[in-house]
Amino acid sequence: MKEITMPVKWVLWIMWLIVFPTGLLIAYQISPIPDLDWRIALSLILLAVISAYLPFKVDHSTIFIIHWINLAAFLTYGLFYEMILMQLVLIPLLIRSKITLKTLYRFPLNSTMFMLISLLAGMIFYSTGIGSADGFWALVFASAIYIFIHIFANHVYLFSFNRLIGNKYPFFSSDTKLDYAATMLSMPFGLALYYLLQSVGPAATLLLGIPFLAVTIILRLYNTSEKVNNDLAKSAKIGHQLTERLNVNEVLDLFTNKLADLMPLDYTYILDVNTKKNELILLRRIENGQLESNNLSPVRKGEGISGKVWGTGEALLFNKKKDWIEEVEGYIPSDIESIICVPIQRNKRTVAVLLAASKKKNAFGTHLLAILEILCSYLAIAMQNARNYQRNVKRSERCALTGLYNFRYFDEQLSNEFSRLEQGRMNALSLILLDIDHFKKVNDTYGHQSGNDLLQELAGLLIETAGREALIARYGGEEFVLLLSDKTKEEAQSIGEKIRAVIENHQFEIQHDLSQNREITKINMTVSIGVASSPEDTDSAKNLLRNADRALYIGAKQKGRNKVAVYSK
Ligand code: GH3
Ligand code: MG
Ligand code: MG
Repeated sequence: MKEITMPVKWVLWIMWLIVFPTGLLIAYQISPIPDLDWRIALSLILLAVISAYLPFKVDHSTIFIIHWINLAAFLTYGLFYEMILMQLVLIPLLIRSKITLKTLYRFPLNSTMFMLISLLAGMIFYSTGIGSADGFWALVFASAIYIFIHIFANHVYLFSFNRLIGNKYPFFSSDTKLDYAATMLSMPFGLALYYLLQSVGPAATLLLGIPFLAVTIILRLYNTSEKVNNDLAKSAKIGHQLTERLNVNEVLDLFTNKLADLMPLDYTYILDVNTKKNELILLRRIENGQLESNNLSPVRKGEGISGKVWGTGEALLFNKKKDWIEEVEGYIPSDIESIICVPIQRNKRTVAVLLAASKKKNAFGTHLLAILEILCSYLAIAMQNARNYQRNVKRSERCALTGLYNFRYFDEQLSNEFSRLEQGRMNALSLILLDIDHFKKVNDTYGHQSGNDLLQELAGLLIETAGREALIARYGGEEFVLLLSDKTKEEAQSIGEKIRAVIENHQFEIQHDLSQNREITKINMTVSIGVASSPEDTDSAKNLLRNADRALYIGAKQKGRNKVAVYSK
């Protein structure tokens, strides 16, 4: 739907200002109000207003069936009265369709439309003489034409307006057919009401109005249950898709996207329970369809709406701002009206909270609570699966002591990078091998545990110094290996030199493992480094490692340690 521009809105109001009084005047001249039974006049208006307030939906179109009432009104009291009745009906219609200041133009649009249609149908009825023919079947015929003109004119008016402002609006759709059918079928009700009003007076509106409204309400309930069924089927499908994902971010993206298809959303927040800090931490924040940063303050238990839902484990639904405004603490966009907040639970424990919001009032039906609870339990399982999977992948790639990559992973990457080198996607691939000098002595002096602490500290230093340029792995024991993609031998040598110097100048802290009082001791260590490069000296991955090893032992260890040696043939 296109935005209606300001000039169009002005035209609509000006048209209304001309048509409204003129229409009333013409109608009054054609058919001034005859003797009015006020009870009948008011009860018809009441019936029309109530019917307009209770529309029902079939598929996606909203249907108001009120033409039968305005037929009865027209036949009983003429055009002018019918016109007034239709204008009054407009008020509940517009309230029902949630009119706002921005869509206020719909008042002049619809008011003018009703006015012109009433005039057209009334004038045809009177001027062609169809209405003056005597007898029951003549009246049936005239009424059918009257109703048909109403709906046809309504249809043409909306079609022309939408086309004029540039909307794609098909002349015939399944909605229009439904509208024609429902309206034409209501015609006998209108005639019956007209005849009954003549014989029993205002009670006629009850006699026909009650069964009519009852059917309307049943249709509405039926429709809600159909919607619930549809949504349930959709959420089962979403649930299966969620549990197939193995990455937490993918799970969250899929969930928030699907949620936006299922319900009218302007804001979505997923908050994760952090059990260590005992607070809710933002995991996803989507505002007006945009993924926003998660830099909002954490929420404590019981604080604000999400904190409350975390605390109680019970979902909350608000349909107006004034219902929740006092509950809020902390961040919330000011144009929110409706809020639905649901705990995400696993084994009956709340592990996260979902808060969804809309700028519209009454945006969320209560049936969504049940649907969301089901979806959230799928989400909890899918997140758990994805987290476990990612943790296992990480474990299988890393060394448990240092957190660096393990040799298996390194070996894979080495052959990947070699293929890239062979394909000419980089110019050089270099490798640094590093072995701690006299590490056995450290173990013997301070204990194996202290040796482990040193290895961890050294891993941290390596990441700090070369983490951005190199893939760093623990080669085994107290040996480490760094893979440098697209780095020449000279560049690798200077990185090696940097690492050597950093380690030489670093004071490692260890807790004396073997002494009684386990005092903290500061020690210095040095490393020997071998550097090799491809394609300069070799074109195989195995040889690259062998060359670095040879440089390390012959060029660095044997020449006195604490050195960087570069392989040369
Ligand atoms: P250099 O390399 O200078 O020739 O002397 P080194 O004493 O370091 O000799 P080498 O590299 O051959 O010895 C490795 C020693 O490292 C043997 C073992 O005590 C120690 N080591 C290997 N892996 C670990 C480990 O995971 N933890 C600890 N604490 N020590 C380890
Ligand atoms: Mg060694
Ligand atoms: Mg060593």
